[in-house]
Amino acid sequence: MNPLAKLDHQFIWHPFTQMRGWLKREPTVIVAGKGAVLRDVRGREYLDANASIWTNLHGHNHPAINAAIRRQLGKIAHSSALGLANEPASLLARELIEAANASFGEASSASPQSKQMSGARETRPSAVRLEKVFFSDDGSTALEVAVKLAHEFARRTGRSAKPKFLSLTGAYHGDTVGAVSLGHIDLFHQRYAGLLFRTDRVMAPYCYRCPFNRARPERADARDYHRCRWECVGLVERKLAGRKRKGNSYAGFVFEPLMQGAAGMIPQPAGWLRQVTDLARGHGALLVADEVMTGFGRTGTVNSESRTLNPEGLFACQHEGVQPDFLCLAKGLTGGYLPMAATLTTRSVFDAFLGEYDEFKTFFHGHSYTANQLGAAAGQASLKLLQNRSSRHARQILEKTLHEELQTLWSLPRVGDLRRVGLMAGIELVRNWRTREPYELRERAGIRVCEAMARRGVLTRPIGNVIVLMPPYCTTPRQLAEIVGVLKQSIRAALA
Ligand code: PMP
Repeated sequence: MNPLAKLDHQFIWHPFTQMRGWLKREPTVIVAGKGAVLRDVRGREYLDANASIWTNLHGHNHPAINAAIRRQLGKIAHSSALGLANEPASLLARELIEAANASFGEASSASPQSKQMSGARETRPSAVRLEKVFFSDDGSTALEVAVKLAHEFARRTGRSAKPKFLSLTGAYHGDTVGAVSLGHIDLFHQRYAGLLFRTDRVMAPYCYRCPFNRARPERADARDYHRCRWECVGLVERKLAGRKRKGNSYAGFVFEPLMQGAAGMIPQPAGWLRQVTDLARGHGALLVADEVMTGFGRTGTVNSESRTLNPEGLFACQHEGVQPDFLCLAKGLTGGYLPMAATLTTRSVFDAFLGEYDEFKTFFHGHSYTANQLGAAAGQASLKLLQNRSSRHARQILEKTLHEELQTLWSLPRVGDLRRVGLMAGIELVRNWRTREPYELRERAGIRVCEAMARRGVLTRPIGNVIVLMPPYCTTPRQLAEIVGVLKQSIRAALA
């Protein structure tokens, strides 16, 4: 065994990994990366088909981000944000605020169905502005910050003496205790119930397996042929109204916009986001958007139903003209280089924490590496790349290629649903597409397919029976065709 692999086996405990299985096999040791390609210690190359767990945007070893970090390194790597300001964090904060408030355009985002549901109500772009940035370290802490702020805001403004949060079935918002409290994936979260605070859950759309969808399976994304009366929106309304009747609104409605990632890459039908966020706000809840996965151009330049309001927008919420009260960002914030996160919020939330020193209204929260200069420098460089016209154009082409390549998978009977939003896709494997019969988790169908892919030089991780494809934006159409081709061969080989 390679000496580095040996050291790993001896000392490292890997995340979300059954270590007994891990210790039976020599691990792949990554030593280098360039663009969409990772290289291991034995010189083997792999395509990074999940962008290193959804973090990488422009590719590995990107000259512009490397240069920005080096420039910053020549000045200083880190000084504390407790009591001190710094250059790259201030500049990045301004740029994030500008990107988050980018104009929402004019059209209504509501789908024909949603218009029917809501009595043809015209939805308009939201007037909320995000004005302040609180930096932290990763997706989980970005959510922790939002939850603490929303909780305290609800108490201080008299909205609720006992603030409570509403989140979605299948929700995953990170692994710290507050973020886990918002989560509703029983396999991950149930065992920690004794550690957590209570939150309410409400049904998230999952058209492919929705009990209200009366359509028989077709060889198409279930959002395109679902037959229902938008019961999922009605359930959200009922939940919000029920809480309000008890004299309290929710302190916050927490959601991933357009697509829930760790739930199994589950997209929302067009118009859902706008409707439920209008309802939540109408019932007094602050909107907490978790764009840890969906942010920074992942949801594409044109949304799945071509009803995008802001084709240039970097955030999923902008596709439906929704401006949250909290926008939680991490993963792609630094282009996938360094751990850094940001929670953007409004002036009214900020103002609730203003006071004289001895009123003790301070937000008592922070981390040692808050507003780290290297991360901020990488973040600025990444944002600049994202906003560059040629990078936007490349993303559009990649999105089109991804769409076309994915269509070739419908010929496989083990593919039940194929769902894509922008540059993210989930491929749900089933025993029988005509009945939607799933594999049992213990059959490891997703894992087996991903292992077969790795042997063929493509790396990704499954979520249960769903294979995730989330290529870095620098992936070429040829590399993308290879990724999907390998996936196809691997499904055939592993699930014959
Ligand atoms: N929110 C979402 C939507 C995520 O996908 C994740 C991580 N996969 C997190 C939060 C937590 O982020 P981190 O792992 O950086 O703490």
